[in-house]
Amino acid sequence: MAVSKTKTPISEQSPHERIRNFKEVCLGYTLEEGQAEASRCLQCKDAPCISECPVAIDIPSFIHAIREGDMPAAVEIMSRHTNLPAVCGRVCPQETQCEGVCKLGRAKGFEPVAVGKLERLVADWNYARPAAVNAEIPRVKIGRVAVIGSGPAGLTVAGDLAKLGYDVTVYEALHAPGGVLLYGIPEFRLPKFIVAKEIEAITSLGVKLELNSVTGLAVTMREIMRDFDACFIGVGAGAPRFQGVPGTALSGVYSASEYLTRINLMHAYEFPVYDTPTKRSRSVVVIGGGNVAMDAARSAKRLGAEDVAIVYRRSLTEMPARIEEYHHAVEEGIAFHWQTNPTEYSDDGSGKLRGVKCIKMDLGEPDSSGRRRPIPIPGSEFFIEADTAIEAIGQGANRVLLSTFPELRLNRYGYIDADPKTGATSVPGIFAGGDIVTGAATVILAMGAGKSSALAIDEFVRSKNKA
Ligand code: FAD
Ligand code: SF4
Repeated sequence: MAVSKTKTPISEQSPHERIRNFKEVCLGYTLEEGQAEASRCLQCKDAPCISECPVAIDIPSFIHAIREGDMPAAVEIMSRHTNLPAVCGRVCPQETQCEGVCKLGRAKGFEPVAVGKLERLVADWNYARPAAVNAEIPRVKIGRVAVIGSGPAGLTVAGDLAKLGYDVTVYEALHAPGGVLLYGIPEFRLPKFIVAKEIEAITSLGVKLELNSVTGLAVTMREIMRDFDACFIGVGAGAPRFQGVPGTALSGVYSASEYLTRINLMHAYEFPVYDTPTKRSRSVVVIGGGNVAMDAARSAKRLGAEDVAIVYRRSLTEMPARIEEYHHAVEEGIAFHWQTNPTEYSDDGSGKLRGVKCIKMDLGEPDSSGRRRPIPIPGSEFFIEADTAIEAIGQGANRVLLSTFPELRLNRYGYIDADPKTGATSVPGIFAGGDIVTGAATVILAMGAGKSSALAIDEFVRSKNKA
């Protein structure tokens, strides 16, 4: 049978409908659609898709199981490699990883296999069963490990170590686990019940969660080093950053971190069911070109803003957001001002934002990031009326834990200096990974770091036990 050139179509809420609600945009494949998509996979012997996946999922094998209709086998294969399949199937940048190297997609006129959507199908199928299939865990414990932070890095370490036979406790500063998966990525991209299901699967392995527990305040690193055999720090990079444009202190100017945390973690989008208030904006300008900017803009639209525009200093080619999210944003009526930067937030005379003064940018030679350097074009200034401006220009390291633990060596950007292969830090027995080591990156890179650290921690504890 000839292989279809295009991916099997997937159902989505229409743009018209979805800008009025926070429900998930993509509705996922049915089993039959998934089998049709799975039959496009060439089952390559060298499978480049596997080596491009930071947690090395055996992609051809789980796709083969879907094609055969053997979903329990697909779940079993998947759970050998990842603790967060439903999350990754939804938010990983597959287009630059597994799907980016898919041999089918390399053939002229063919789209790659929809690996991410198939991963999501397997996970959703498993979680929809009365008793989800969970990995077996050893009864005898090898040692005790503390994990600080319950984002994708911490959850991966916790899950992998529990499967290896460790007694694991995760300390989380917030009242709910999940990190950015919960407080950053909105419901319409990653439903909270999906995150909860994946975390439930991890706690069912015996992992204990200590919520509302800020390490550095509620519990100190010295106490952790005394009570545990090893520790993994995965506290992310959640501290907001501002560009420092005049007028940043005006009412109506937000960091994306605050804006999205109010909406997602504090459920402001369900006001008044939840009593967290959020501004009902009419016109919104979001500054930035990453996933965070897309999420802030699309959330503002759903909260009722009439005009939402993204201002980005480079062009579409350099934009770091996932292309799927960009297309969704365009369909939802978000406007884009390319090669544009804000120069001032204007006051309406009462301390509130009236609008954003902007300037057009030219693109020069590539800078240290490899992307073309934006250069202001004199005389190109213009004004966008807005009652809300949201800066989504990146986050930095949160200093709460770091400032109480000076023994930990940091790099020149203020992130933890850790071995890229193992996560080992300057303090023996303390490992680190995810955004707190790399700076703001991706879910799957945080998980990849967690996976390698889990192996390194196992080796560390075993050799300590032998000594
Ligand atoms: P985090 O997810 O930040 O988790 C860190 C956890 O540590 C948090 O729960 C925090 O509360 C906790 N913590 C911090 N300090 C302490 C302390 N002292 N004690 C105890 N706990 C502490 N990536 C993608 O791959 N695809 C996407 O589509 C995508 N979209 C994104 C959208 C938004 C809005 C944002 C902000 C990020 C997005 N990312 C995306 C990036 C991705 O979410 C992060 O790279 C990833 O979550 C990093 O994982 P982490 O485990 O290192 O940290
Ligand atoms: Fe299938 Fe593409 Fe991986 Fe080949 S590269 S095994 S076609 S998903």
